[in-house]
Amino acid sequence: MRPRVTTAAVLREFNAPLEIEQVALPADLPPGAALVRVTRTTLCGTDAHLWQGVLPFVGLPLVLGHEMVGEVVALGQSAERDALGRPIGIGTRVVWSESVCGNCYGCTVLREPVLCADRGYGFRQRADKWPFVIGGLSQYTYLPPGAHRLVVPDDIPDTWAAAAGCAVKTVLRAFTNAGGVRPESTVVIQGAGPLGLVGTAVARAAGAGRVITIGGPANRLAIAKAYGADVTISIEETSDPDERVAVVEELTEARGAELVFDFAGSPSANREGVLMCGQRGKHVVVGLAGPQAMPVPMDVVMGREIQVIGSLNGDVSDLDRSLRFLTAFRHRFDWDAMFGTPVGLGGADRAIRDMASQVAVKAVIDPALDLEEITG
Ligand SMILES: [Zn+2]
Ligand SMILES: [Zn+2]
Repeated sequence: MRPRVTTAAVLREFNAPLEIEQVALPADLPPGAALVRVTRTTLCGTDAHLWQGVLPFVGLPLVLGHEMVGEVVALGQSAERDALGRPIGIGTRVVWSESVCGNCYGCTVLREPVLCADRGYGFRQRADKWPFVIGGLSQYTYLPPGAHRLVVPDDIPDTWAAAAGCAVKTVLRAFTNAGGVRPESTVVIQGAGPLGLVGTAVARAAGAGRVITIGGPANRLAIAKAYGADVTISIEETSDPDERVAVVEELTEARGAELVFDFAGSPSANREGVLMCGQRGKHVVVGLAGPQAMPVPMDVVMGREIQVIGSLNGDVSDLDRSLRFLTAFRHRFDWDAMFGTPVGLGGADRAIRDMASQVAVKAVIDPALDLEEITG
């Protein structure tokens, strides 16, 4: 029988404990929609930022979590195929990208779903308004009609499939937007969180001549090393951005890097990233620096003919390539090194705090783990 309510960890107040509650599920599924039993959710830095209230316009209550995988438990009409035409039935394991409208300038003229004017980001869905739950910190979740979905191959673990949903697809799109990696080039990765670590692996797999990863703390830099960083620069030990620029200069015989990816999103990252670029270098901006961002020296951008390139999340194409990338390099990179031990929804609150304090690299939630315990 189709579930009518779900147990979920609900954000009711910023910076406050998540509440375990019963939340309604849609009674009827419109064409193209589905209901999914969440088998794994991985947390992203953005979940921690949302919990902290850095996007204060976000409406509460809200079910967080936008990296998840699950098994279909109910299907609306015309929902029996994935984006590649493969069959979806009850029990099929799927991942999906944010819903898009299909009718706007971004969707139709530009044909770039990430630029959809009405993209279904999870933080836009209040838990007290239909369809209530599209987030992953929930036993069941609603899969909107405009969300392109993919059947997950059997050999991909739940945790990897979940992480493909934001972290991995975002990194792969950024490399695509950068126009690829030349084999002799120096690639600088700013940030050693999940994006920076996956970015390090992608740069290495793409054949970069030298990979320099900047971030912290030490446990994250150790994973960056294992993922192929030739050099890591600790922001704890080298805390002055100009000193870090000097290190990159020294490593590149004063020529600077060909590619600098901002996966850090700190206020100084873009100024620093541009200064690390060599002549005709590219700075790819993925992080969100916020209102305190330091000015980017445009005279340097001009004088070195630097390209500054934005990259926003990823679409179903990037998601599909993420699943294939994780599988193709499963023996080269220990993906599980990024992930924490799965906890249930009752542990989601702790997990999100651990993401906020950066104790966890990537916290993992399996909603089935403690359902009986927390619902009593
Ligand atoms: Zn994310
Ligand atoms: Zn659109």
